[in-house]
Amino acid sequence: MVGLTGGIGSGKSTVAALLATRGAVVIDADLIARKVVEPGSDALAQLVKRFGSEILDDSGSLVRPRLAEMAFGSSEARADLEAITHPAIGHEFLRQLGECAPDAIVIHDVPLLAESRKKAQETASNSLPDYAYVIVVEAPLETRLSRLEERGLSADDSRRRIAQQATDAERREHATRVVDNSGGLAELETQVDEIWHALLEIDSQ
Ligand code: ADP
Repeated sequence: MVGLTGGIGSGKSTVAALLATRGAVVIDADLIARKVVEPGSDALAQLVKRFGSEILDDSGSLVRPRLAEMAFGSSEARADLEAITHPAIGHEFLRQLGECAPDAIVIHDVPLLAESRKKAQETASNSLPDYAYVIVVEAPLETRLSRLEERGLSADDSRRRIAQQATDAERREHATRVVDNSGGLAELETQVDEIWHALLEIDSQ
């Protein structure tokens, strides 16, 4: 399995899409994290039991910032949150993996790969699989800000989010291959082609 990460606005999702057009199967960690707490899910019912119905909006959907606010104040609340969500996430991840063809090149798209690895070291509770190859997408800060601005995010918001994430250096520590997305899409495609060939090579061994 291949891990894929990158800070917000680096172009990680674009790389995931380019790999998918070449035949990779992408498992999106963020989508899974949202899916397991959809209305009607077991995990959401458990969260309401633990944190109260204040974490829901009028339509019964989880208001993530509200939950985060309640859970991240104390280590006990945080542990409870994780005890509820992590098994559900793990279960859904394995379900999606089970649906992949045995010879598929599976890309695990994990925005917070470096952050999760760091936490795993601190708490000795690893929530990510071991990857045969890790792709880290990078772009200069100013490029990221202007791309995110085009996507409708203000520079202030982007800077705040970027500051909350791991640094380029921290992500790089996990990289088998760093993708330099400072250029245009053609340059990005060239690098994705190189990676794709490397992955095919590994897969055939
Ligand atoms: P991430 O998933 O890392 O947050 P995205 O892949 O969504 O980043 O890219 C952020 C924005 O920048 C998107 O609108 C995307 O289309 C655009 N983008 C990504 N790479 C390039 C590039 N090389 N040239 C121009 N625009 C790009």
